[in-house]
Amino acid sequence: MEPDHDVLVIGTGTSGYTLALACRKAGRTVAVADNRPFGGTCAMRGCQPKKYLVVAAEVVQLAHQMSEIGIQPGAKIDWPALMRSKTAFTSAVPASTEADFRDAGIEMFRGTARFASPDEVRIDEDMTVRAKHIVIATGARPAPLGFPGEELVAISDDFLDLTSLPRRIVFIGGGYISLEFAHVARAAGAEVTVLHRGERILKNSEAEIVDQLTDSARAFGIQIVTNFQACGVERRDGAFVVSGYTGCGTEFEGDLVVHGAGRVANLDELGLDAAGVGHSARGVTVNEFLQSVTNPRVYAIGDASATPLQLATTADMDASTAAENILYGNRQRADYENVPRIVFTLPPLSGVGMTEAQAKKSDARFHINRGTMTGWASSRRIGQKHAFYKVLIEDGTGHILGAHLFGHNAGEVINIFAMAMKFGISNLDLKKVLWAYPTHVSDLKYMIE
Ligand SMILES: Cc1cc2nc3c(=O)[nH]c(=O)nc-3n(C[C@H](O)[C@H](O)[C@H](O)COP(=O)(O)OP(=O)(O)OC[C@H]3O[C@@H](n4cnc5c(N)ncnc54)[C@H](O)[C@@H]3O)c2cc1C
Repeated sequence: MEPDHDVLVIGTGTSGYTLALACRKAGRTVAVADNRPFGGTCAMRGCQPKKYLVVAAEVVQLAHQMSEIGIQPGAKIDWPALMRSKTAFTSAVPASTEADFRDAGIEMFRGTARFASPDEVRIDEDMTVRAKHIVIATGARPAPLGFPGEELVAISDDFLDLTSLPRRIVFIGGGYISLEFAHVARAAGAEVTVLHRGERILKNSEAEIVDQLTDSARAFGIQIVTNFQACGVERRDGAFVVSGYTGCGTEFEGDLVVHGAGRVANLDELGLDAAGVGHSARGVTVNEFLQSVTNPRVYAIGDASATPLQLATTADMDASTAAENILYGNRQRADYENVPRIVFTLPPLSGVGMTEAQAKKSDARFHINRGTMTGWASSRRIGQKHAFYKVLIEDGTGHILGAHLFGHNAGEVINIFAMAMKFGISNLDLKKVLWAYPTHVSDLKYMIE
């Protein structure tokens, strides 16, 4: 049977949206399917709404931090008003996403897509779509917690939709989502606890920088509990109680418990076996061209594929890469080296490239520049009490092997390091640039001596 479309994309988030439009622009017939309002996680339930909350929290925290140097104390978050402003943004996303598809001539299906055969997908069981290429762009969902009472635990979608802020919030898991939300909630006045099962939160980030964040978060009033394995949640006297073990057997009580213990590829509803699409717990198994290794008609991109990172930036890169490969034959490879990552805490933590531990395991010969930035003018003028940098520089070439920052504007400055790493710009060449002064970026020259 003839296919109905050249390309069917399942999922209309960052990756599905970009790929669908790229293929359509190149003249292919394209259809998209989604079982939630069109637009995906980043725009509606992730990066963008979160940033609305983070910037408000930053203002409050900065005002508090500067109360000894000229700012009157008392800035407060009006949670319902902040939520209204966030929702004004997110609620417009589905209509604008659909308009983009409609204008491009992309057919839209609303419903759950499930493979019926290697090249056929059923939408909500009442319609079948055949396509030459089928792209899985179904994103990720919170990992199952697997303990009693897991249904009582709110997920990030719920947190981003809270109409009022509970007095006490407990986060399970010490990853970036928990840490970011914890800072927002604390800035908005909640009592906040983060329960983490390992020795150190943010296990993939540079340890020394994470220690700085941990100290700073505690000074900000966030209770961080490590080596705590949550093993159940129950309702007691109107509150939620998280119990756990690893020595302590302690209980933590809150008015809301939030899941921040990782996300897994969203594949369960896809019926991948019917299409012979191999997958693991990490996502659809793909080759370097983002093509399924077991069904060449199928590509998988973004959080749904078993690639190293679950970020909007890499989802977008995956989409452009797979689109090229579908259109012109497999020739583009996604590049997950040196992707900058930010944890939007107060202040933010950022990193790109190797950590010290990773560099020590590699063959690289390098030296480390590290230090606190609290004495620098850029910190003193905003009353910043916690700020640290650590840069790994290759001996001989001066290439940056890794950069890790904690401090105001760390989320912007890291992009300069990422650019230097991408294009092989040495520390000496970076120093030659006349960075506009005085800015946080111009501080870079002190970090790369
Ligand atoms: C709270 C939070 C904060 C984040 N912050 C950041 C950040 O600051 N920076 C950053 O880079 N990344 C961030 N991320 C990660 C980022 O949002 C994701 O990496 C990115 O959105 C993934 O895009 P995607 O296209 O793979 O999937 P998604 O955007 O998740 O889209 C998947 C779509 O597929 C649909 N779908 C799933 N299954 C089916 C099916 N069977 N049939 C039909 N439709 C289906 C879903 O409804 C969804 O619309 C954050 C994520 C969260 C949760």
